[in-house]
Amino acid sequence: MKRFLYLLVCLCISLYVSAEVKYVFYLIGDGMGANQVLAAEMYLAELDGQIGRKQLNMTQLPYSGQAATFSKSNGITDSAAAGTALATGSKTNNGTLGLTADGDTLTSIAEKLKAQGWGVGLLTTVAIDHATPAAFYANVKKRDSYYEIGTQLALTGFDFFGGAGLHRPAPPEGTTGFNLYDYAEEHGYTIARGIEDAELKRAETKKLILIQPNEAIDRRKKGSGNFPYMIDGRPEELQYKTLTPYAINFLKERHDRFFLMIEGGMIDYACHGRDGAAAIQETLDFDDAVGATLAFYHEHPDETLIVVTADHETGGMALGNSDYTLNLKHLQHQHCSKWVLNDELTNLFKDKKKPTWQQVRAILEERLDFYNGVELSDKEEADLKAAFQKAVKSKGKRPYKAMYKNVDALCNIAVGILDRQAKVGWTSYSHTASAVPVFAIGQGAEQFTGWMDNTDIAPKILNATAEH
Ligand SMILES: [Zn+2]
Repeated sequence: MKRFLYLLVCLCISLYVSAEVKYVFYLIGDGMGANQVLAAEMYLAELDGQIGRKQLNMTQLPYSGQAATFSKSNGITDSAAAGTALATGSKTNNGTLGLTADGDTLTSIAEKLKAQGWGVGLLTTVAIDHATPAAFYANVKKRDSYYEIGTQLALTGFDFFGGAGLHRPAPPEGTTGFNLYDYAEEHGYTIARGIEDAELKRAETKKLILIQPNEAIDRRKKGSGNFPYMIDGRPEELQYKTLTPYAINFLKERHDRFFLMIEGGMIDYACHGRDGAAAIQETLDFDDAVGATLAFYHEHPDETLIVVTADHETGGMALGNSDYTLNLKHLQHQHCSKWVLNDELTNLFKDKKKPTWQQVRAILEERLDFYNGVELSDKEEADLKAAFQKAVKSKGKRPYKAMYKNVDALCNIAVGILDRQAKVGWTSYSHTASAVPVFAIGQGAEQFTGWMDNTDIAPKILNATAEH
């Protein structure tokens, strides 16, 4: 009996403590496997002349584990199935958002908390109707049903959306639908382009859709565009060190309990393109988001839970490709993303019918420090020249296609040389089944240790917030 009473007291204490959680931050690095995190840490250490790690914010969280990410239909998940698992705790088929494999509707933890009166915010560096944020509010069989997803967004009642715009705000051709931004306004949202615009509209704003200013949009991708890559000079107001405190304050001013999901959406894009330098910079930006939530945690340690994880790994990023050395600091020679370099090379072939090797060499010198800090072996030089000759012959037509973006063979080989010299390896242009890290701090954080499944995370978060 004594033992029973003791257990009862313990249970009551633990329930009392978990009942205190009022602020939940759920951070998802898209494509961020353990090596993406470690690469960023070891890169920073190498810049300081050290072999080792300069710790990121996320790896300083006291509890950590790993999660498997396979989906219901595939050994290797896509972002829709992984997002659904992280948002709802249920596996589904690749390509599906917020529905089981049988088509039954799933409810995300964001929707559950909203129903209990919490404020809810979703923040990303990609479109706000892209798979990861959409997994928290949409129920569609196909992740690219963007118009349908955007319609559902307006009906969520969520308080804050931040990121690039909507992929497809206009109604599908041949239909008499409405513009989705107008539709969102009809449902009580204020649309702001940039923080300055949001501040001007502050007095009348109840629920906010904060998208990037027009001039900042990276339109090289179709649709809403993304944020520009960090390595290409993302404006400060779109960096997470600025955006995260803004989102937190917005929610805090309006709600005494809130849930904020933050996605590092472009780590995945960088790794699909095997761009090690861009991937590291995106991971560091995402870690600034973790840093901002940690600052909040230190002000409210008894009421906050922070969970950081990834939806899957992308690229099969490896640290080491030949001997027992790493040379990650070599990546600092890359001064733009692979896609900007690709555009420059493509434009050269467009502008000049027959560009010379010297012109190509000048671009590689400026953008990758080739021949000027980055020395090339005879084979590397020969590979580049062969790709150049091939491009001249094909009149600049792109002989190589990577997911999300066409990249010329010449560009691919050039950035590949730099990654190889840095001793960074890649096994895929797609996602992999590698386990992803899980980090946590705060009330209920002790649940996030050990080897888990991606479907375990949402129920654990909900458990920490449950009212008893
Ligand atoms: Zn991806």
